[in-house]
Amino acid sequence: MITRLSQLFVRTLREDPADAEVPSHRWLVRAGYIRRTAPGIYTWLPLGLRVLQQVERIVREEMDAMGAQEVRFPALLPREPYEATHRWTEYGPNLFRLKDRKGGDYLLGPTHEEMFTLLVKDLYSSYKDLPLSLYQIQTKYRDEARPRAGLLRGREFVMKDSYSFDVDDEGLAASYEAHRRAYVRIFERLGLTYVIVKATSGAMGGSASEEFLAVSPTGEDTFVRSPGGYAANVEAVRIAPPPAQDAEGIGPARTVDTPDTGTIVELVDVANQKFPRPDRAWTAADTLKNVVFRLVQPDGRSELLVVGLPGDRDVDMKRLEAAVSPAEAAPVTDEDFADNPGLVKGYIGPVSLATGEAVQYLGAEGPLKVRYLTDPRVVDGTAWITGANVVDTHMVDVVAGRDFTSDGVLDVAEIREGDPAPDGSGPLSLARGIEMGHIFQLGRKYADALGLKVLDANGKLVTVTMGSYGVGVSRAVAAVAEATCDERGLAWPRALAPFDVQVLATGKGDEIAAAAEQLAHDLDARGVRVLLDDRKASPGVKFADAEIMGMPVSVVVGRGLADGLVEVRDRATGERAEVPVAGAVDAVLAAVRG
Ligand code: ATP
Ligand code: MG
Repeated sequence: MITRLSQLFVRTLREDPADAEVPSHRWLVRAGYIRRTAPGIYTWLPLGLRVLQQVERIVREEMDAMGAQEVRFPALLPREPYEATHRWTEYGPNLFRLKDRKGGDYLLGPTHEEMFTLLVKDLYSSYKDLPLSLYQIQTKYRDEARPRAGLLRGREFVMKDSYSFDVDDEGLAASYEAHRRAYVRIFERLGLTYVIVKATSGAMGGSASEEFLAVSPTGEDTFVRSPGGYAANVEAVRIAPPPAQDAEGIGPARTVDTPDTGTIVELVDVANQKFPRPDRAWTAADTLKNVVFRLVQPDGRSELLVVGLPGDRDVDMKRLEAAVSPAEAAPVTDEDFADNPGLVKGYIGPVSLATGEAVQYLGAEGPLKVRYLTDPRVVDGTAWITGANVVDTHMVDVVAGRDFTSDGVLDVAEIREGDPAPDGSGPLSLARGIEMGHIFQLGRKYADALGLKVLDANGKLVTVTMGSYGVGVSRAVAAVAEATCDERGLAWPRALAPFDVQVLATGKGDEIAAAAEQLAHDLDARGVRVLLDDRKASPGVKFADAEIMGMPVSVVVGRGLADGLVEVRDRATGERAEVPVAGAVDAVLAAVRG
């Protein structure tokens, strides 16, 4: 069947949408693939829907090929299963919660671990039924704080989620590997340049997990790589702590006057003037910076958290968020400082924090100790210049383990280009990526919480171990658009393009229209998916629209026809070739198949 542009429900736009931050968003809207309905919520138009369906097809074929079976859950779900795993609360404001007419609590599913676990519990009871992998391609809902970049971060989006069920750890490892291989094939077929990185498991819980990131400067994730093959999302990097040091030669900690040194730069300057080191100059790395956050639990309880780290590094907010999840780290306010006179802005230090002297405690359920956590580099025996909890005053030769101890380690300092890989495999380089897929070995967390057990070979009840695996299907549409578009519009790889070829009849005259029509028919007869631009519009409009819409190949039937020629254009490379009308079908077939 030929699709005619004169009939197709589409309007291309000459202007960028006002809210477009990234090229894929701009072009998907301008080319008439999607329309915004509400923040982070989009309507799929015919062209966009065809691309979405292509992604779904690839994902479905690979999931089926690995032996997973497709099911489909509702998006509207009851509260109870999510209550049993605490996620009704832990998902926090990201969860769309609603009530039915009887006052019953419901939610719009953000991910379906609970439901799959209960379904298998409902139907299966023996080890003989396992292993099992189930999947669905379905709409998910998350009330994202920052819906962004069109389809890349929606509040409603399409995900493929699958879940594996095994009796033992070896089984889980095998199911995880099978998914990993299927994901490699999916992302190869989507034509994405991607990396597989170590990941944190976030709200999902569980242990081993990896992400598939499409390498892209517009990605929200930062990942690191080393020459020796280490690869991780920065959120998952756990630095290798240096060995503890011997502090025997270091004199007692002493208090020094350091007027106007509320910043690290000012402090280092004053230190070098007022109490220089004999061997070398003080640097920011000699200072212990203490940053305060308010840690808010999903149930609303909150406490102050002080993070101590070398002064030459900042806290990486995404690493912090990942480390404290499901709690959230909010910035402290002037009020917090006013309520806690012991925390002196710009002069916070661990000595009195550790003894609790100078700090006034806060907390909904009565007094709480201010939690003090330190960077892994702050090992026992290291000496620091740090705040004295008094304005214009610092302490020198404050030794970790001798003068203070922290409540634990928090590895959330920024990772920098050139930092050593934790496994000794060389210096790290940083790049950005879009999270396309995430695979987890969940273990028994959900099966435990919801009582999914089967009888093993000895007739004993054992708890099932699970994996959970997601692909961002609608996000993939945007990620591929992002990777392939240029300054003129979209440029689809054939695997995802809504049509293989766009045939443009440019110029007046029945002959041109008839030749274009004939060519479209001949191509269609050979199995090529054809979009025929049969509109009464100028050649300029048709050329521009073909470039914006981004079919891999276009054929221009126009002026050249008088000489028996048509022009075949490759959208991605920009190559153009004039070919005889008689050979046009073969030329197009070669272009779309090759
Ligand atoms: P992110 O870190 O980007 O918020 P996530 O880790 O919360 O994602 P998962 O729960 O692992 O996401 O979901 C599986 C996949 O679903 C992700 O790898 C991603 O491709 C996709 N996805 C998640 N959130 C969104 C969203 N808001 N819009 C579009 N796709 C999403
Ligand atoms: Mg994820």
